[in-house]
Amino acid sequence: MDMTTRRRLLEGIRRAHQADAAYTAAGRARTRAAKATAVHVRSTRDPQLQGAFAELKAEQAVHAGLVRREQEAGAKVRRTFTAARAANRALAALYTPYALGRGTGGGSRSGVVAALLGELAETPRELILAADKILVSTSAGKDSLVCGHRVVTLAAEAGCLDKVVMVHADLGEESEWPGVRELAQRQAERWGVEFIVVKADRGLLGLVEKRGMWPDAARRLCTATLKRDQIAPLFKRITDALGLDEQALILSALGIRAAESPARARKLPLSIDMRASTGQRMVLTWHPILELSEADVWQQIADAALEYHPVYDALIPRLSCVFCVLAGRDVLVRAVRLCWALGLDLPARYVALEEHIGHRFREKLSVTEIVAEAARIEAEEGPLVWARGDALRRHVGEEAAADYLRRLALVLTAQCGGKRDGRGQ
Ligand code: SF4
Repeated sequence: MDMTTRRRLLEGIRRAHQADAAYTAAGRARTRAAKATAVHVRSTRDPQLQGAFAELKAEQAVHAGLVRREQEAGAKVRRTFTAARAANRALAALYTPYALGRGTGGGSRSGVVAALLGELAETPRELILAADKILVSTSAGKDSLVCGHRVVTLAAEAGCLDKVVMVHADLGEESEWPGVRELAQRQAERWGVEFIVVKADRGLLGLVEKRGMWPDAARRLCTATLKRDQIAPLFKRITDALGLDEQALILSALGIRAAESPARARKLPLSIDMRASTGQRMVLTWHPILELSEADVWQQIADAALEYHPVYDALIPRLSCVFCVLAGRDVLVRAVRLCWALGLDLPARYVALEEHIGHRFREKLSVTEIVAEAARIEAEEGPLVWARGDALRRHVGEEAAADYLRRLALVLTAQCGGKRDGRGQ
């Protein structure tokens, strides 16, 4: 199947999905309208109301309005049903000539999507050649680093490096470790690709203060507010800048790995971002390093002499918020000790905020308890000590780490020289 046909099918899938979603939403709206009418009918049966003529008249007017709303909702259900049926029939007609079991109606939509996207994910070069823009979201952490490296390498091999743009969601000094944004920028500069920073009005502390509560795994508003919602408008900006007459194809690469969690293990290498896709743009979410283990990631960092953030050397496993609501107790305690070692006042600010809003960081763990445990360990063991390269020493061994540090120093010196001479910017 050629790329033009695949793109037409992807658009057929998007339309069918959005038409189905509109039909489902219309059905819910009709149910709500019917319930409101039923509740109102019961309230008008009140005997006192029956005796009061003026009130009864007013309630009858309200009732007429509710019935009208219900009828309009019913009409919308019928319209969206017709649109969804048409979109699904159009998709079936498009797909049937290519379906394996011809004459069977082309298979279920999820089957079609899986087959189509699975095939595309296995041919990343074709995908990159077909894309109009490739957006790589980077936290500057180790997985983003290896993801960026893979995308940039593939794009350079395909002669499409100019399509790549790195996007960093800056969480602010009050949320994350020092130097994160600068590191993300250096990584993009090293690869010679465009670098964009997006930032929410307030970081994690500001968000928590406004809501009066900490996020948790079930209500992870922090990721949505601080990252996803900031990056989302970029898709429109990119589409407008491309100014194409036809639908743009945007790849949105994310450095997540299946081994990180059961939820991530269920992700597919490629999927349609239905929220970001429109008639003007097809946005495909791409997970280029989904199959890598943590050991693979460190090996690739060592092999390519990629610059990673020094907090990994101090046994912090993820370059996320300093006090991530999802982090384990040991990591949080260590983060407090690392803040002290770096002279950061974040632990005291988090404790003050927790007291101020009266809501515990986690149901069974307060920031005050984390800080107290850090102080106890510090009293027994003394301040935290680490050295550059420790993370690699643990993962690839002493010799490979020493070699990495030597090659990285050369890369950074060359990068610095390039900047001074006006190259690599
Ligand atoms: S790193 Fe943790 S606290 Fe920060 S935005 Fe992500 S989930 Fe929320």
